[in-house]
Amino acid sequence: MADDLTAGDALESAVAAAVDAGDAPADREAALMSLSAADLEAVIHARLESAGTVLTSGLAASPGAATGTVYFTADDAADAADRGEAVILVRTETTPADVHGMMVATGLLTTRGDLVSHAALVARGWGTPAVVGAGEITISGTTFAVGDTVVAEGDTISIDGSTGEVMLGAQGGAALPPPAAFFTVLGWADDVRRGHLAVRANADTAADAEKARMLGAEGIGLCRTEHMFLAPDRLPVMRAMILARTAQDEAVALDELGRVQRTDFAEILTVMDGLPVTVRLLDPPLHEFLPSVLDLEVKRAGPGLDDEEQRQLDAALDWAEHNPMIGTRGVRLAVIKPGLYAMQVRALLAAVHDRRDAGRHPLVEIMIPLTVSRAELALARSWVDEAAAAAGLDADARADISVGTMIETPRAALRAGELAEEADFFSFGTNDLTQLTYGFSRDDVGRRVIPAYLAHGVLPSNPFVTIDADAVGELVREATARGRAAKPGLRIGVCGEHGGDPASIELFHDAGLDYVSCSPFRVPIARLAAAQAVIAARRAR
Ligand code: PEP
Ligand code: MG
Repeated sequence: MADDLTAGDALESAVAAAVDAGDAPADREAALMSLSAADLEAVIHARLESAGTVLTSGLAASPGAATGTVYFTADDAADAADRGEAVILVRTETTPADVHGMMVATGLLTTRGDLVSHAALVARGWGTPAVVGAGEITISGTTFAVGDTVVAEGDTISIDGSTGEVMLGAQGGAALPPPAAFFTVLGWADDVRRGHLAVRANADTAADAEKARMLGAEGIGLCRTEHMFLAPDRLPVMRAMILARTAQDEAVALDELGRVQRTDFAEILTVMDGLPVTVRLLDPPLHEFLPSVLDLEVKRAGPGLDDEEQRQLDAALDWAEHNPMIGTRGVRLAVIKPGLYAMQVRALLAAVHDRRDAGRHPLVEIMIPLTVSRAELALARSWVDEAAAAAGLDADARADISVGTMIETPRAALRAGELAEEADFFSFGTNDLTQLTYGFSRDDVGRRVIPAYLAHGVLPSNPFVTIDADAVGELVREATARGRAAKPGLRIGVCGEHGGDPASIELFHDAGLDYVSCSPFRVPIARLAAAQAVIAARRAR
């Protein structure tokens, strides 16, 4: 557990040493090289005041400490938060259907999953402390047990997402403002990395975007638009679109979704005015927006289903897949339901119009997920171009809108040359690229396989945390070279979780990427790591 008295000391001493030495660029560089991500993390996240007895531990998935009362479902967590309680949501694992409970929780605890599980990704994105994969915990109804200790709904626990520890009772703690040395160090880091490696944030809402700007992000490298459809007021409309029986019903639901997206986009573009905002069109498989088949089957066997629920069950069964992460998702989903992307692009361009009318300067990058071939990207691009033509944007506005693709599969990486001919930019989705290069399911291997591989020395580190330099890194290098051979100057970044990992950032800099994009709370770490990568490369020359 971090000690309040020492948090920030490393930063203060590094700054003092540089200043004492004369404060020349070389002194500042030495100070930057002496620091680590942990030194920055120690001052930006809430810390526990007392060291309670550790009940159990899991993976430290999202840093910071939280104390709250335990609830086991997203609905109960949301109700408790409405009553003013600080809530720790405890789940086996989370899914998009839990987002309304996750949004209001002060901390998340799961018994399964790893550092790229849904809970971990969402928590890091929102800066919510989280411990995942706490495998000693057994949940049963409204209690959980670790050995003989039973914790019931409404009991208070504390979690430390920086260490992975779970404690009984309240341990206090709060986020304190970072010391001045934090800002000094990051200013020095920016001086070094400027013109070499930019740092953007993955942000899905205006609130995230604001956080990201405060922490120094130079734009948004990934806005996952699906998160806009998961809020409690939008999910029913998304479901209406999926359940639509006629083209007209589908069009009505799409229009309604487009209306809310336009507002969401306008808010984000306002916060990021003048900075690039990469908006990824819908990526996840549709069943993620429906209740689970299991829950509906259980209800059918009990009190029974009403008409709407029966239709949801039919749709959930219809869209269910054996391997949804390599099934009907990303651009493939759009080929099947082209109205979806057209609606998103219309909403985005309408927001661009609004901002320009207000005298602002929106810079938009429309990103297509999971493409694997030129033909596929050309088709998706044609929808964007049609919508842009229909939106009647003038040449100036059009020049500020680019269209690009994620590189998330080995095929896309190897065919980067042909993809570059249809793309204004690339962004490496290294979560999926790692999953598909290893053939490791990102939702499953964290529980048993990765720990066992690490214990046996089969893997040097978790490849979902630090990029695998030998193969995934090689694909990044190769795709960058092939993409730029076809289109010199192609803008290339990374928006997978690795974009906030210092060792991976060094590789991305060496590969020639223009920017990394990471969760808002990792932006300071990425700024420091980018500067360190620039210094290391210079020293190696
Ligand atoms: C990725 O695959 O790296 C990525 C950023 O997309 P997502 O995590 O949403 O699949
Ligand atoms: Mg992906």
